[in-house]
Amino acid sequence: MTSIAANLQQVRERLRRACEAVSRDSAEVTLLAVSKTFGPDAVRQAHAAGQTAFGENYVQEGIEKIASVADMVPRASVVWHCIGPLQSNKTRVVAAHFDWVQSIDRLKIAQRLSEQRDGSMAPLNVCLQLNVDGGANKAGVAVADLPALADAVAALPHLRLRGVMSIPEPQDGFDAQREVFVRVREAYDDLRARGHALDTLSMGMSDDLEAAVAAGATMVRVGRAVFGHRERKPVTGAV
Ligand SMILES: *Cc1c(COP(=O)(O)O)cnc(C)c1O
Repeated sequence: MTSIAANLQQVRERLRRACEAVSRDSAEVTLLAVSKTFGPDAVRQAHAAGQTAFGENYVQEGIEKIASVADMVPRASVVWHCIGPLQSNKTRVVAAHFDWVQSIDRLKIAQRLSEQRDGSMAPLNVCLQLNVDGGANKAGVAVADLPALADAVAALPHLRLRGVMSIPEPQDGFDAQREVFVRVREAYDDLRARGHALDTLSMGMSDDLEAAVAAGATMVRVGRAVFGHRERKPVTGAV
């Protein structure tokens, strides 16, 4: 067994236990494998081990990888998520090549994605990125501004608003992690109560997926625990 296949099995087992601990059905939680900085072969190995959802942070790297794995990984058999910061000049290629964008934090980007999504394709699935900590320099919409952004994005024709994504500051310990994730879930629940038909609460990574599941995550985004240590340090904003 390749180590990626073994890692995947371990992560699935962590998810199973995390769900069991809070009496959730593990079928409710999607594992997104974050393949940023890893080559096409890592994606092929994960796909061969049954993984079908992949996340990329850097647009150029992502579209090259989508093309280069197409030999062994039929495009229709995988779902590609753009999870990194997105600049206006990259929206066209993202709208053409990805199935999801989880990092929407301003209307202008959503409008461009909707205009540029080919009407013959399925709508682009989107999540709004929530800055739950209030960090001024971090990506994401503030909690207070989330409902207005959700209303505006939901009205765009070629997008389908699916939910909320968040990357809270790392916390020490399960309780502190869960407490922050619960704030994200409350913002998500609030949007649902306002009438948005959402099904995706994307939070939790390699170090805190158990706490995210306990707080209600329906999707966890896991990089290192699946693919191993990243050599190349992600460059913020380098898309
Ligand atoms: C890199 C990244 C992840 C995965 O993080 P790991 O700690 O490697 O599991 C998840 N979400 C986003 C937005 C990321 O940039």
